[in-house]
Amino acid sequence: MNLIMVLTVFMSATVFATTLEEAPKLIVNEVIHAKQVFPNLTLLDAIGARISGSSEAERAVQWAKKKMESYGFDRVTLDPCTVPKWTRGKLEKATVVLATQRYDLKVTALGGSKGTIPGGVEGAVVEVHSLKEVEKLGKSLKGKIVFYNQPMDASLKDSFEAYSNIFSLRSEGASAASKFGAIATLLRSLSSLPDDDHPHTGMMHYQDQYEKIPAGALSTHAANVLSDLLKKNPSLHLKLELSGSEITETQSHNVVGEITGSTFPEDIFIVGGHLDSWDLGPGDHDDGAGVVQSLEVIRALRHLKIRPKRTIRVVLYMSEEFGGVGSDQYNKKALSNHHERIIGALESDRGGFAPRGFSIHAKPAVMNKIKLWQSSLALAHADQLFATKSGGTDTEALGEAGIPEFEFVPESKHYFDFHHSALDQLSVVSADDLTMGAAAMAVFSYLAAEEGFD
Ligand SMILES: [Zn+2]
Repeated sequence: MNLIMVLTVFMSATVFATTLEEAPKLIVNEVIHAKQVFPNLTLLDAIGARISGSSEAERAVQWAKKKMESYGFDRVTLDPCTVPKWTRGKLEKATVVLATQRYDLKVTALGGSKGTIPGGVEGAVVEVHSLKEVEKLGKSLKGKIVFYNQPMDASLKDSFEAYSNIFSLRSEGASAASKFGAIATLLRSLSSLPDDDHPHTGMMHYQDQYEKIPAGALSTHAANVLSDLLKKNPSLHLKLELSGSEITETQSHNVVGEITGSTFPEDIFIVGGHLDSWDLGPGDHDDGAGVVQSLEVIRALRHLKIRPKRTIRVVLYMSEEFGGVGSDQYNKKALSNHHERIIGALESDRGGFAPRGFSIHAKPAVMNKIKLWQSSLALAHADQLFATKSGGTDTEALGEAGIPEFEFVPESKHYFDFHHSALDQLSVVSADDLTMGAAAMAVFSYLAAEEGFD
């Protein structure tokens, strides 16, 4: 065979390889055998906890940009955004004060909580299970510490449902108690572990009309201990010391990189996760997993020399944990850019567990189209499709603008064991599950960009 013949055979093989049927097989095979996904998570993990506004978050921005460049992404840019900066400080202490004994309980400040006055605050503790109960107790809470002790409902199949059922205790609990003169709040960590000693943090919000009171989270073990002590000593006191700062603003970036579409470059399919984590650990499930899976989507396509008809754009968002701050700014700009059209957006922010499928927030016609891809998605164990009425935090504004919104859905049973705590580290991520998730994301993104949703 002469050189021209060899080239002809090679080129026709490449063309054949990129048919709709063959490409997903090549993609899954490439993602599994290239072994890039878990090693990338290891590198991101080594940077440390990446809370919005921190130097670690900035290092993660630079790391992600360099990764995209090293993988030959077509266009890599840093998209400036203004983000919150908050630090918890060193002092985090909750002490049960009894006549003859003292008990130290594991506590952490909720994200955004102000600190206590120097020397801490001390008061009687009232245990409640809902915001409604706080409303009923009303002015009797004056001068007291409100203790929200509602466990996640372990009987529910979907742990995200159990989380969202009591999420408002964390986000609204402090102001709800302050309204009646409470001096602080303590939350049973939103954890699916029934008796663990690692507290879980997470964003809380103050309502401006009420005094801002300190808000901490107890480990589920500490919450059990406090509840037991209260049964025996209802008039016990608790002293709480927290050193959280005021929230200020600083500059950061969303990291953006793409593979330009061959036929409709101005049609953009977005795939992403968030670069920031909480400060208690490196956030390898939340959302290190989503970051390295998103990077793998374009790496695998570039390596295979598969260029879909429409552009795939990876967006790694900053400051999701403070309420989607980076994505809010990015999405506003994207929606007002009339030179391009976002055709859909996929987010991975449910951990790096074994793939199940995708959630779909879009018109029925989009769901019908994706149903045709199920055998390809099954190659990466991700062929279950879930119709939803909303998507992830970072794609929310796009969904509200009528753009099809998708979430990668892995197994979720243990996500909230680790979520927002020091437990969310490399040792609780399976390399195989994480990698198969990346393969699922890559197949879905390829099909979306190749086929579109029109
Ligand atoms: Zn997250």
